[in-house]
Formats: sequence, structure tokens, C-alpha cells
Amino acid sequence: MNNRILVIEDEANLARFIELDLSHEGYEVQVSHDGREGLELALSEEWDLILLDVMLPSLNGMEVCRRIRAVKQTPIIMITARDSVFDRVMGLDNGADDYIVKPFAIEELLARIRALFRRVHPTAQEHVLTFKDITVDLNARTVKKGDRFIELTKREYDLLVTFLQNINIVLTRDTLLNKVWGFDTEVETNVVDVYVRYLRHKLDENDKERYIQTVRGAGYVMRS
Ligand code: CA
Repeated sequence: MNNRILVIEDEANLARFIELDLSHEGYEVQVSHDGREGLELALSEEWDLILLDVMLPSLNGMEVCRRIRAVKQTPIIMITARDSVFDRVMGLDNGADDYIVKPFAIEELLARIRALFRRVHPTAQEHVLTFKDITVDLNARTVKKGDRFIELTKREYDLLVTFLQNINIVLTRDTLLNKVWGFDTEVETNVVDVYVRYLRHKLDENDKERYIQTVRGAGYVMRS
């Protein structure tokens, strides 16, 4: 299900720009250019997030925020003017979850939306990585193959997580070395081959390329 976002912003160009970008990201977006109308929409329908400008016709954003909060916990990001510390503080005091300062890069807005969704909906998927019959729980730091737990050393675990976070991306030995062992490491790159071998052995003794494939002359990949 798409996340529904209500954008209450009276600057038509900015509202349109936000609408297009959020839609492009897969969110379902509705725009209101008016404070009072936006408030009605906020209260009469269910939204996963409300982006709320401060300066609005008919009813200002602070008041809209306060009235939404009086009855609903819908996450709210305020869009505030540059240099207005007062707006930011007041927005947060009125119950906004976050704010973004105009002018902003759309990437920053998207990042703030993702972060807010993570805070509001800490879903099970967030900390569980899966691949074929392998399941890694990042919180519990456990690895399962089917129903069976697999014991991994820290390096093997870090290596597996790196692969799982880069499904279908070929990782060179240098990349793996940097991600798993750190940049200022003294070890030789062939340590990567050694640990891939350990990991393969623990994941599947019989079929060494079942999970981690070798890409000759390039590195390794987990391909879905
Ligand atoms: Ca405005």
C-alpha cells in the first residue's frame, strides 16, 4: 500500500514540484493550497504524513498544526521560511514532528520523510534481511537458514550483511575489505576470499555458489 501524503502549501509551483517528486517516489499525494481546506482534509481523511507550510491563506500553518494535533497523531513536517527560528520552535511546540527550511533540496525532504516513517512505523522488515532461505535479524544479530540458526563469527556476519544489503551488486575485494575490515586495515585483499569461503561453507557445504557467486576478475555477488 502506498503511503498517503497531504501537502498543504499555497505556493503553486512549489506544491506542484513536491507533488511530482513524491509521486515519482511512489507516494500517493494530494495538495491543498489553503489552510482551512487543508485542515478539513487532514481531519476528514487518513494520511500517513502531512507536509504543512507555515504561511497559508485563511488559516496559518501553526494553527492548522495545533488543531490537527488536538485530535490526531498524523506525522507532520512543517515547511518553514529561512531563518525563522521562531517558526521552527513554534512548529515543534505545536506538535510538528519535524520541519524543513525553504528553499530545500528534494533529496533532503525525501530523507526526512523516510526518517520520520522509520520513527513512526518501526516495522519488522526494517531490521530483517532475507535472501533465498537465509534470514538475518539485525537487532538480534542472528542468522537463520530456514528454521536453523547458523553461528557466524563477527567478520562472517558483517560480510553476509554487506552482501545482503547489496543484492545484485557485484562487490570487489577492495569494496568488501573497506566495508567489512575498514579502510585503514593492514590485511591483504585475499583475506576476503578466505572469509567468503568460510561463509559459503557455513551457508551451504555442498553448493558453494548457491548464495555467493564469484564474478571472475571482478569480485562477488549475491544475485536474486
Ligand atoms: Ca506559504
